[in-house]
Amino acid sequence: MAWNNVPAINEIDIAEKRLFMRLDLNAPIGEDGNVSDLTRLEAAVPTINYALARSCRIVLASHLGRPKGQIKKEYSLEPVAKALANLLDHEILLADYPVGDSANQLTRQMRTGDIVMLENLRFDPGETSNDANFSKQLASYADIYINDAFGTAHRAHASTAGILDHLQGASGVGFLMEKELTALQRLVDDPARPFVAMLGGAKVSDKITLVRQLLKQCQTILIGGAMAYTFLAAQDIEVGRSRIETDQIELAGQLLMLAAHNKVDLVLPEDHVAAQNPDSEETLLMGPGVSENWMGFDIGPRTQELFCKHIEGAGKVFWNGPMGFFEKHAFAQGTKAVAEALGKSTGYTVVGGGDSAAAIRQFGCHEAVSHVCTGGGAALTFLEGETLPGLAALLQAQPR
Ligand code: ADP
Ligand code: MG
Repeated sequence: MAWNNVPAINEIDIAEKRLFMRLDLNAPIGEDGNVSDLTRLEAAVPTINYALARSCRIVLASHLGRPKGQIKKEYSLEPVAKALANLLDHEILLADYPVGDSANQLTRQMRTGDIVMLENLRFDPGETSNDANFSKQLASYADIYINDAFGTAHRAHASTAGILDHLQGASGVGFLMEKELTALQRLVDDPARPFVAMLGGAKVSDKITLVRQLLKQCQTILIGGAMAYTFLAAQDIEVGRSRIETDQIELAGQLLMLAAHNKVDLVLPEDHVAAQNPDSEETLLMGPGVSENWMGFDIGPRTQELFCKHIEGAGKVFWNGPMGFFEKHAFAQGTKAVAEALGKSTGYTVVGGGDSAAAIRQFGCHEAVSHVCTGGGAALTFLEGETLPGLAALLQAQPR
């Protein structure tokens, strides 16, 4: 079976059936009202095309942003439906709400090869609360269920979990889900050494569980970005006004001790690009700490060189979280340098995380790495050693 005991779409007889396809089309919408990054849409195309080639009637469902159970125009899937129809070169009819009259009617009228998209699932509060009644209505639109929404696999929502309680036919994963899970499983299983994890980004508290898990698997953990300052503070190194989480300092200290105990090389920045505020043009290089009143916004050149050397010599690398405030040119160099090193590495390289994925694309290295995940939260949950709720629901739904 494709994924443990869950079949992939090509292991299910889908010909001429009604398919409910849960996708993650949660793409950024630009100021002009159009989708500004097609990555997630492009990633969904192979599974849809496969179903189209088998004369299915297809119901597509996704969320967009966090409308919190209310109809909000700025979270409409309309621009997504338009862009996806363009990519597929195939008409998509959009229902005006995930369930109800419009969805009922459009799905009832579907013919072979038709695609109906439901409006943003999160317009209905039943989606995130995994409501049984909402799940049942979603299930009524199809016979077969395919989950290809990797970016949402860490959520047990109506369209990823509850729906399976009400479905008559077979269920499985799409090609994207299969590809993502296989890539992450390889990261865990591949015997290549050293296994280097590079973590950065803004919030330590989001990533503490991951660090604990990676301390059991990795030989080296490189920590940059804002999260490094909480770890530096735990070592009593001056961090100035850099972004730290005071309530996580103690835990960071414990992780540093655990790293030493497990003989994991946990590497922190030795120098920093600092400024007095994020908008300041005036930057200063400093290290090993950050002076009073200054804030660290990027790793300095010595740290870049150190991190890049570890990456280039790695057997496998997982990268999550930018090395600095890379949205600003003055603080982007560290992230750019490690992205390029990742591209050059001959090891098995995986990037996970919304901003890290955006960064690797921005610096043009996305095609030079082994895999870029389309979902950050799902990738982290997987590597934390948890069964993804979306996958667990599918597993449970399989006939025994
Ligand atoms: P990902 O989406 O890849 O998981 P995160 O969301 O955890 O990454 O973190 C990304 C954010 O962290 C970016 O917006 C980046 O600007 C910010 N960031 C990274 N380093 C710093 C820093 N030193 N100071 C302030 N912000 C930072
Ligand atoms: Mg992010």
